[in-house]
Amino acid sequence: MGHEIRLNGIVEESIVDGPGLRFTVFMQGCPHRCAGCHNPGTHDPDGGYGDDTERIFAQFMENPLLSGMTLSGGEPFFQAEASCALAEKVKKAGKNLVVYTGYLCESLARKEDRAVRRLLETVDILIDGPYVRELRNLELEHRGSSNQRILTRSAVQEMLRPAFAPFKIENTQAAYARSASAHPGGRLYNSLRLR
Ligand code: SF4
Repeated sequence: MGHEIRLNGIVEESIVDGPGLRFTVFMQGCPHRCAGCHNPGTHDPDGGYGDDTERIFAQFMENPLLSGMTLSGGEPFFQAEASCALAEKVKKAGKNLVVYTGYLCESLARKEDRAVRRLLETVDILIDGPYVRELRNLELEHRGSSNQRILTRSAVQEMLRPAFAPFKIENTQAAYARSASAHPGGRLYNSLRLR
């Protein structure tokens, strides 16, 4: 038995949720309530269905062609313990991990929650920020709106450092612009690549 996890669904072979062929897990439960969200059925934490991280991992390992797993939403950090259990098994198996979140990475990095931190330490690519309808851009790779960032593992690690200067978190375009300019160590990328 692994951890209990609440899901909205699984796509066993995806080419749109990160690099290569991916196993995408859509988590159930999201506190962000972004206007224009394309997946409102994931919001209710009591919706979806219950599953077990060991069973999901076994299903993932059945396909040797997969590059890795993507945790999407809903909000993966809303179930940080279960997400983390799954993430650590994926990494131990030598596969890569992409995680989507509606939070800012800097906000997550300052949470005093062990599972949140472990998940941030495990991720290869973090795609952060809420969906902002006014910033919708259909030409973006792997993102819905231009405020969302693709952060490599090294950028996430940089934001986890205690010396990384905090700033007032607001889920607005201004906050993104400020974080990008104030923290050059938090490198931003326009296309996904693993390092
Ligand atoms: S974070 Fe994602 S799933 Fe949650 S409300 Fe925003 S767009 Fe929808």
